[in-house]
Amino acid sequence: MSVKFALVTGGAGFIGSHLVDRLVSDGWSVRVLDNFSSGRMENNEYHKRSRKVEMVRGDLKKLGDVEKAVRDVDVVFHYAANPEVRVSTTNPELHFNENIVATFNLLEAMRKNDIEELVFASSSSVYGEPESIPVSEDAPIRPVSVYGASKAACENLIHAYSRLYEIKAVALRYANVVGPRLRHGVIYDFIRKLFMNPQTLEILGDGSQIRNYIYIDDAIEATMIAYSNIACRKFEVLNVASEGYTTVNEVADIVTKSMGLKNVRYVYKSIATLVKNDDLRRRFSVKAREFAKNFTVERSVKKLERLYYCILNKSSAVKTLWVIRR
Ligand code: NAD
Repeated sequence: MSVKFALVTGGAGFIGSHLVDRLVSDGWSVRVLDNFSSGRMENNEYHKRSRKVEMVRGDLKKLGDVEKAVRDVDVVFHYAANPEVRVSTTNPELHFNENIVATFNLLEAMRKNDIEELVFASSSSVYGEPESIPVSEDAPIRPVSVYGASKAACENLIHAYSRLYEIKAVALRYANVVGPRLRHGVIYDFIRKLFMNPQTLEILGDGSQIRNYIYIDDAIEATMIAYSNIACRKFEVLNVASEGYTTVNEVADIVTKSMGLKNVRYVYKSIATLVKNDDLRRRFSVKAREFAKNFTVERSVKKLERLYYCILNKSSAVKTLWVIRR
């Protein structure tokens, strides 16, 4: 793959910062646009003195910031968003602005500056409650959260822009991505709760809900594979997931075991936006399919288990948990 100049929106966040690491190690130059609402400068500290990475503090909700940020880049990886599904229930307007308005501004800036390639971080939550699993990309889009609806709206905007303005785009519907630097989602939530109360763990739903987890390295590899085929199509949607799935109760077991806790009482709380089955079918190009043989939930979870052992052995302070890297 040829070396390029990329804009990574949300490049100070969990997935975005790992993507920056990968692009730089592949020889790319990268500009990061981030407003640091959930992102952290320390996620990119490896690149602090690198001339390959330019960090720009700016907000996608401001068209001026975005127009400056897209200047001269060859490709945009759009990873900025508010990824908190639960927040989208209590504050839908925030998600409308952070996800839809932000993406619209980006597309406008790309159109005006003739930027032709876009990789978009979409989500499995566009499917809502699927009729059957694993869910293929052809399944109906019926989100049950404002977050999922905002991602679906972004995909549709991107589709229209790709048809109208020659933007080649791929929307990647990620499953639950896990790994170092993650500061939201079920595993983060479980560890945070167990630090506060190691006897009882509140689980949203009845714990039997099915989830597909993918380890960050695999998600990034899949992203690069998907990008390498971008020139072939105008617009493509791909699931990015592991082989198989696990239940939330199993995740709770792994986390409690990793933390060395015994006899933790699970209490269950129902929640409206909860999807029962969230397992994705992967449909990749031939090259990607070969790679995807390595994707397994077990592998992701095993790595996580090791990761959390390392974290917990290093420090018992919750505050320092999330800055430790591999
Ligand atoms: P994250 O919160 O770690 O990263 C999001 C980044 O975007 C942060 O650095 C934040 O500061 C930045 N940001 C937010 N609003 C911004 C704005 N208006 N202008 C500039 N920067 C802004 O989240 P993440 O887990 O790394 O998720 C990255 C992307 O992948 C998101 O689009 C998310 O919806 C999507 N996604 C994540 C997962 C997952 O499991 N983590 C799964 C599916 C999809």
